Amino acid sequence: MTGVPATAHTACVALGANIGDPLRQVEAGFAALAALPGTRLTARSSLYRSAPVGYADQPDFINAVALIETALAPQALLAALLGIERAQGRVRDFPNAPRTLDLDIVLYGGLVLHEPGLTIPHARMLERAFVMLPLAEIAPDAEVPGQGTVRELAARLDAGSVAQLRRISA
Ligand code: ADP
Ligand code: MG
Repeated sequence: MTGVPATAHTACVALGANIGDPLRQVEAGFAALAALPGTRLTARSSLYRSAPVGYADQPDFINAVALIETALAPQALLAALLGIERAQGRVRDFPNAPRTLDLDIVLYGGLVLHEPGLTIPHARMLERAFVMLPLAEIAPDAEVPGQGTVRELAARLDAGSVAQLRRISA
């Protein structure tokens, strides 16, 4: 959307899907982010394939990361992301269950936030190669508050669990 006000913040959103048609659902996730009120999609990573974490007996995930400029406050952005997940048919069965689309706020400017239902930076981002590698592709110089740059934090992770997918078209 155009007309993002001067109060907009840069946020980073992680996308993941592993049932149904994951590639299509992640694409639809990017489109839905771009359509949020007061929000512009400014960058998107390549798509990545990763093995499931926590509950192993499920299909691989397709992962990606988006950068947005948004006037939505953190809790409003989370509510909007949960709305997109619901609209794409996500059912919350159990922790780490397969999902049609998962949208997480990874970073929101340099904000550190601990509120009911919302922790920023995302509590598990630093251990997740499927978040840090795509993020390093599009925002290597972003600072994770109190931790360092995305580039140096991503370099510490084992990249072997994550495969960058080749772009099929230009
Ligand atoms: P996960 O993404 O960890 O696999 P879920 O998508 O089921 O798990 O999210 C569970 C809850 O995590 C959400 O309902 C939300 O309230 C909470 N949550 C806390 N911090 C964040 C964040 N930074 N981004 C997205 N959800 C978050
Ligand atoms: Mg989530």
